[in-house]
Parts: sequence; C-alpha cells; structure tokens
Amino acid sequence: MSFKACVPLVSHKDLEPYIQRIVDGDASPILTGKQITCISLSSGTTQGMPKFVPFNDELTESTMQIFKTSFAFRNREFPIGNGKALNFIYSSKQFKTKGGLAAGTATTNVYRSSEYKKTMKAMQTPCCSPDEVIFGPDFHQSLYCHLLCGLIYWDEVEVISSAFAHSIIQAFRTFELVWEELCTDIHDGVLASQVTVPSVRTAMSKLLKPNPELASMIHKKCMGLSNWYGLIPALFPNVKYIYGIMTGSMEPYLKKLGHYAGKIPLLSADYGSSEGWIGANVNPNLPPELATFAVLPNIGYFEFIPLRDNGQGPKLNKDESLFLSVEPDPVGLTEVKVGVEYEILVTNFAGLYRYRLGDVVKVMGFHNSTPELHFVCRRNLLLNINIDKNTERDLQLAVEAAAKLLAEEKLEVVDFTSWVDMSTEPGHYVIFWEVSGEASEEVLKQCCNCLDGSFVDVGYVSSRKVTTIGALELRVVKRGTFHKIIDHYVGLGGAVSQFKTPRCVGASNSRVLQILCNNVAKSYFSTAFG
Ligand code: AMP
Repeated sequence: MSFKACVPLVSHKDLEPYIQRIVDGDASPILTGKQITCISLSSGTTQGMPKFVPFNDELTESTMQIFKTSFAFRNREFPIGNGKALNFIYSSKQFKTKGGLAAGTATTNVYRSSEYKKTMKAMQTPCCSPDEVIFGPDFHQSLYCHLLCGLIYWDEVEVISSAFAHSIIQAFRTFELVWEELCTDIHDGVLASQVTVPSVRTAMSKLLKPNPELASMIHKKCMGLSNWYGLIPALFPNVKYIYGIMTGSMEPYLKKLGHYAGKIPLLSADYGSSEGWIGANVNPNLPPELATFAVLPNIGYFEFIPLRDNGQGPKLNKDESLFLSVEPDPVGLTEVKVGVEYEILVTNFAGLYRYRLGDVVKVMGFHNSTPELHFVCRRNLLLNINIDKNTERDLQLAVEAAAKLLAEEKLEVVDFTSWVDMSTEPGHYVIFWEVSGEASEEVLKQCCNCLDGSFVDVGYVSSRKVTTIGALELRVVKRGTFHKIIDHYVGLGGAVSQFKTPRCVGASNSRVLQILCNNVAKSYFSTAFG
C-alpha cells in the first residue's frame, strides 16, 4: 500500500532522464542500489527508434527461469530426445555507450550470457549453429548459415525456433530462394562466396564437408513439394514442434508458418519484453493464437489497470486514459478478474517501478493462484483521425478479411503496415501491402473495399459515411520492401531476433514511410462508402 502511495505510474518517457544518466556513466544509485552496467535496446518499432532500458543479472536469471518453466510443461506434452534446435536467432550490434556501458538488444544480452548455453543444454536443445553465426555482423549471412547448419544436422533437428515467429518465416522464405545454392554448398563442401565474414567462414568450414548424398536428397525433397507445403517436416523428419512467439503482432504470420509446418505442431512461446519477462506458456496444447501466459509472480511486481469490463465499453485514447477520473486504480496480481482486459504495469529488479509497458492483456483464468494472460494488443491506438479508434488488432482483422480475397488467387499478404495520411483533406487511412505475386486489378480493388468495410469501429464507420474521413487507400509495394525496413532497423542497432513490423508508421518514423512510399507499385482508393 505504501509502495503504491509513494511511487507514481511512469512511462518510458518519464524515466528517460534517469536512464540517460546511467547510460552516460553516472555510477551513483539512480534507479537501483547496485550499479547498472548493461543496457538493452528495445526494438522500438512503434516509435521508430530503439529505447534504452536497464539490464542486469536478475533479468538474465528470470529469463532462464521462464525458459525452463515453459520447457517443463512443453516437454511433458511434446517430449524431445537429445537432438538439436535449429534456432533462428541473431545478435544485434553491441556497442559501448558514452559512459562505457555495454549496450545491445535484450536478446543479444541473453544469448551472450553463459547461462543461456547451459539452459539450452539443460533443455536438450543445443543450437545447431556455432556462436560465430549467431553473433555474425551480417544477418543475411547468418541466416544463410543457420539454414546450412540445420541441413547439415538434418536428422538431429528436433525443434525449430526463434524469439518471434517472424524470423522462422523469414528463414524459410529465404530458403525458397537459395535452396539450390545451399545444395551446391553441401554437395561440394564449400561455403558460398556470398558469406564473406572471416569468423563465420572459419566456423562453417569446420562443419561443412562434401556430402553429395545429402545434397541430392534435399534436392529431391524440394522438387517433390507442392508450393513448399510441408517444407519443414520434409527437410527435418525428426522435428517435434516449432517454437517461438506467435501471438500479438506475430499472428498474421501463422498461416504461412502452418503451410511450411504441415502437420508439425506450432507452439507459442512466452511473454516478455526488453523490460523483463512476465509469463510462461504452461498450456502448450492450446492453438498458438489462443496461447496464455501464467505470470511468474517472483520475477517482478505486477499491477493491472482495468480497461473495460468484459471487453465492453469504449476504447480509451491516450489522453482520455491518462485523465485521472477516467482511469481506474491498478489492481494487484491476485485481484484481477477473468474476462477483463488490463494494461499491465511492471516493477522489476532492474530499476523499473510501476512502469507502463504499453500492452493490453486479458485474464483468461488462473494457474493455481497466478493469472493466465492472453496478449491482446499494444495499448496505443494505431489509426486515429478524428473520433475513430483502431488498434493493431482491428487492423489485423481487416487485413485478414481482405487477404481471403487474395487467397482465392493463390496469393498472400507477405507483410503489411498502415499510415494516417493527413496531407489530404479529409485525412484517410493508407494500408501498405506486400503481396506474394501479381494480383489482378479487380481483386486488389475488392481487397481495398474490403479493408475499408472491415473497420467496424463506430467512429470510423460514421466518419466515413459523412466523409470526415476520406476513402481508404491500398498501396501495393514492390517485393522486398519489407526487407528494406528490417535492414533499416538493423542499421539503427535493432536485432532481427526482436523484429516486429511496425503496424503503423507514425510521424516520427519518416525513414520507414519514405521506404514504403518510394516502393509503391500500385494504389487503389476504396469505393466501399459510395
Ligand atoms: P521488445 O521491444 O522486443 O522488448 O518487445 C516487447 C514487446 O513485444 C512486448 O511489450 C509485447 O508488446 C510484445 N510481445 C512480447 N511477447 C509477446 C507475446 N508472447 N505475445 C504477443 N506479444 C508479445
């Protein structure tokens, strides 16, 4: 009680001046008694710039605890032997801050810790790839080598994983393009010349031996597939499951992942952030989109701001929600109610107190006395012109509906994002799509109308009817555009492992908007509202 009375709720912005002092080398006890010596860069996909957050050994420890906890539950349902994991993980650039602190993404800080290797071993899933590949400076080269390592150990691979499922999709989409080169490398025992990093080449040369039988087996299997369906079990017959975060902004990739996976189960991983972990998936049997996360009560102090009872009632925009009379008091871990949505607050061992993570979760039930959370979405609104309020989830549903029309043409949305264009009068929503092939004009027009009609928020629909919001625009971008966006984030110090496509491009994200706008191939305006 006294903690709550004394400590205000904060967002990252409030803490920035304190974190900056730490980053700049001020060794006095600022946020923690023990000095912080390491900084994590959060992916920062929403704002367009990575954020700095404190990192310490306690966070490494809770990461290992989460990994081991969910593994124990997973292994009961889906036991694995003593195989290997083909783990599509990548390190970010690591650098020293002005004050001499080591900085990198949280996943990089974890992968670098000696604890990580021990834990992976304890979980019977040592990584196929050598460290030089994981920590290589060029993720395109690392990705290629991860694939090669997986193929070399093809019959030992029991788990295919990544931090966020996007990296698995990215890997197998790349496989579709480079599989013949991979076969040549395996056949000759010589690494493709496109891999230029000396440490990576040296490490790979120890693994790669000429193996014409394996090369021809892979070749045969690939030729036998139809549209790459079941690629994963074809290449890795002993794989037991595919593992990674598949909820939230990863949901749009599930269909494609299921396509590559065939009948191999998809198991959704745990819930956490650069700021610290929150919960473990202790029900691995649930379909990935329904995954829940049991909060580990000892790794932080968690509070919950109720948002709307039973999912009813209006969505709050940021200004409204910060208005005192509107926002209810946060409740404790044991006081949450099933069926209610909450914004989550984190107090952790690395200097965050009553910190707004920005995520909305829904309580689905309890595991013993700890709540099981479903990830709903980021709290901030994505699309908002006047009285309309659309979240990431609303956008996702609209894209899903429209993508069904594309599926009839055997095409898919590779990735998508959105932008509010206020340069027109009135302003309008712009949805950017990268499509897997050439769609007909007719279908794309229908998709555009479907997107416009799928935002069911009353504020949006009524504004569209009276044209205080203009017709939605669908802009189809050239193939590879979203790759350019990843490259951009990696250039800023982000890591592919933590990459989440920004689902809305805000004003502060002008470089990404520029990449998108420079790559538009076609554009359509909706006629859904006449
Ligand atoms: P990062 O910037 O990489 O620290 O991203 C952390 C954010 O990723 C969280 O605040 C969530 O919004 C999202 N996230 C992490 N784990 C999950 C999960 N299991 N399901 C959905 N979203 C997640």
